[in-house]
Amino acid sequence: MEELPAGLRLVDGHCHGVVAGPLTEDAFALLATEASTPAPPGASHLDGPLGLAIRRWCAPVLGLPAHAPVAEYLARRTEFGADAARRLLRAAGLAALFVDTGIRLPAADWLDGDELGAAAGARVAEVVRLEAVAERVAAAGVAAADFAPAFAEALGAATRTAVAVKSVLAYRHGFAIDPSRPSRQAVTDAAGEWLRGGAPRLTDAVLLRYLLWCGVDTGLPIQLHTGFGDRSLALPRADPSLLRDWYELVEPSGVSVVLLHCYPYHRQAGWLAHVYPHVYVDVGLTLGHVGAQAAPVLAEFLELAPFTKVLYSSDAYGLPELYLVGAAQFRRALTHVLSDWIVAGALTAANADRIAYGVAADNARRLYRAPVT
Ligand SMILES: [Zn+2]
Repeated sequence: MEELPAGLRLVDGHCHGVVAGPLTEDAFALLATEASTPAPPGASHLDGPLGLAIRRWCAPVLGLPAHAPVAEYLARRTEFGADAARRLLRAAGLAALFVDTGIRLPAADWLDGDELGAAAGARVAEVVRLEAVAERVAAAGVAAADFAPAFAEALGAATRTAVAVKSVLAYRHGFAIDPSRPSRQAVTDAAGEWLRGGAPRLTDAVLLRYLLWCGVDTGLPIQLHTGFGDRSLALPRADPSLLRDWYELVEPSGVSVVLLHCYPYHRQAGWLAHVYPHVYVDVGLTLGHVGAQAAPVLAEFLELAPFTKVLYSSDAYGLPELYLVGAAQFRRALTHVLSDWIVAGALTAANADRIAYGVAADNARRLYRAPVT
């Protein structure tokens, strides 16, 4: 099978804004890792699988040989100014970006929303982060007894043109929760305690569950952070199979659930997509971070998950490089996996094309019902 053609434009189903301008090496390195502290003396966050992938795929887009040294790459990036971001985003070959706007850096040259889409030459739609809406409602001032309807109303307004909602329950509490919809009284009590404490970062299990169920009420697909992330996450509690009882309760609603990232639980996620008609898996974040191991990891995603329920995203955040790395790694890994299967006689080239176009774009178009041509 030939490399997925550059003309096959991907739907990036979960991504974020980026810093458009030049960055120092330290700032760049911290945006290319899930670590939240600088590397120890003598080490670099860029000296790992993702750093190699950035040098491999991004250097040629800025006119340097693949694998140019980091210092040379960053100097060239600075010369290009904001045009570097545009070149990198364009090179990703994207048809559409579904942008989670619930997290951003306080940078003056933060590129988000329509501006990000214009830079990438792609359509943009929003993914609304549930916890961010709740924190906005609290910050605006609300009585405990009014929190439940105020949140539902704010979410309705925020999702009017959105393609999905997103939950970071994995970060805030973990998936070992009571799966049922909490009562209005329980929400009021929990809201009272949260608001009396000055409404810090929302970690209350009752409120997080309420948010999730309000997400179900929107009828939009729900994206869930699962698997690895930064160190504020307790990894064993981010295993998506822990939410099995919740998937059962959600199923009659007809609402779809998208398991993002998944690694190292991507095999569990594949099983969930296999047995639940409304569960999907998304390879975002993972394929960039595992670098040269992208093909075997993607093959593991594809061990049990139906091919119509695997989705592409980059989960790019902060660095425009991550849009290109995600897309390039995905194209190369999918081509490798499907070519191996063709050689092994497991499928025909025509079958492989159908799977490739599905995972790259068609599955997302169908799931998110987005106006993407
Ligand atoms: Zn994300």
